[in-house]
Amino acid sequence: MQNNKEWQAAFSVIEQLEEAGFEAVVVGGAVRDAILNRPAHDVDVATNALPQEVKAVFERTVDIGIQHGTVLVIVPDGPVEVTTYRTDGEYTDHRRPEEVHFVRSLQEDLRRRDFTMNAIAMRRDGSYVDYYNGRKDIEAGVIRAVGEANVRFAEDALRMLRAVRFSAQLGFTIEASTLQAIQEKASDIAWVAKERIKAELDKLWIGKDVYNGLKKLEESGLVNSLQGDFLAEHWRGFTVQNPTGGWAFFARIQGAHWQEVLRSYRLSNKEMAFVKAVLSAFQALQNGWTNMDYFTYSLEELETAHYFAQLKQPFNMSPQSIGEAKARLPIQQRQDLIVNGLDLLQWSGQKKGPWLKDALQQILTAVVNGELANERNDIKNWFEQQYSTMDE
Ligand code: ATP
Ligand code: MG
Repeated sequence: MQNNKEWQAAFSVIEQLEEAGFEAVVVGGAVRDAILNRPAHDVDVATNALPQEVKAVFERTVDIGIQHGTVLVIVPDGPVEVTTYRTDGEYTDHRRPEEVHFVRSLQEDLRRRDFTMNAIAMRRDGSYVDYYNGRKDIEAGVIRAVGEANVRFAEDALRMLRAVRFSAQLGFTIEASTLQAIQEKASDIAWVAKERIKAELDKLWIGKDVYNGLKKLEESGLVNSLQGDFLAEHWRGFTVQNPTGGWAFFARIQGAHWQEVLRSYRLSNKEMAFVKAVLSAFQALQNGWTNMDYFTYSLEELETAHYFAQLKQPFNMSPQSIGEAKARLPIQQRQDLIVNGLDLLQWSGQKKGPWLKDALQQILTAVVNGELANERNDIKNWFEQQYSTMDE
């Protein structure tokens, strides 16, 4: 695990900071994930060097969050985020600290972190700094706030949703007093920016135990302060690779108001379009998909809709057959059609009008259904027959 590029890069940064007389460690998600044998995406370094001191040690750095103490250091193995040990200042709005204070002690830095499993540091020699027994909690599969849970959730309400997200991601339980504190503070989640909530839900949807996460969302009372219906029961056995698949499933549960609910989480237009396509493909599947359905929807949209249907009630249709049916279509996309609007205008001698779109759609459907070959002459003859009776 620690011999991948990200870890190599982090260790080489630590080495150089140590040579300059500073202390530095890997901290946060990467350490947790290494203990769990999960691949890490970001291997973050924390140090007692001040941001300016970090910048003086390395040739190439980028100021990415210097007011919070974070400098991006570029080394041959890749970029590494290096953050100065810090404590958080006063929290006034349940969201972000007003200011941060740089400190020289790792222990203080670890104390501001949310959960014991996220408050473990690893030195370059592979030894751990684990003041809050995070490894023991990881071993037991427990999410536990660092310090007084009530206080920690009052400082930053997002932490409550992070706890639930981690329970889905890792299949962990939430320690009793931590869960109780969430129940007490749940309504504070309303203070948190929708974008940050969406980012947590994105991670929840692709967790390995989404059902567990959804149950925790209900148990904690957070559902009462979030937009939409979550209904844990629906999510039994649910697992997807792509967060948008999670949003599509969530949308299906919302019924007619789904667009309004999803918009409130600030989904992009692209995400909304995917969800919309999945929902209509799902609807179409109730009567079996036609060639036009296979043509219209992308493979991922079809597979997602098929997965939802299977989850509801297993039926006799394999996921592989979707790609096969799609591959058998005479054409794969609209642009493959050998004729276009200009051809029809020329053949008919008519002016542009709504008829043109209809005619193209009819040709497309006939070709996709294999009733008409995708050949110029065949299409011309077909068109002239169909449209010969058209108004002069
Ligand atoms: P992921 O695998 O999703 O990236 P992560 O634990 O690395 O999970 P990040 O948001 O990348 O989460 O944060 C890195 C670290 O910063 C965390 O492990 C934790 O120590 C600390 N942290 C992040 N968000 C908070 C928060 N809201 N309150 C306290 N500490 C936090
Ligand atoms: Mg991270």
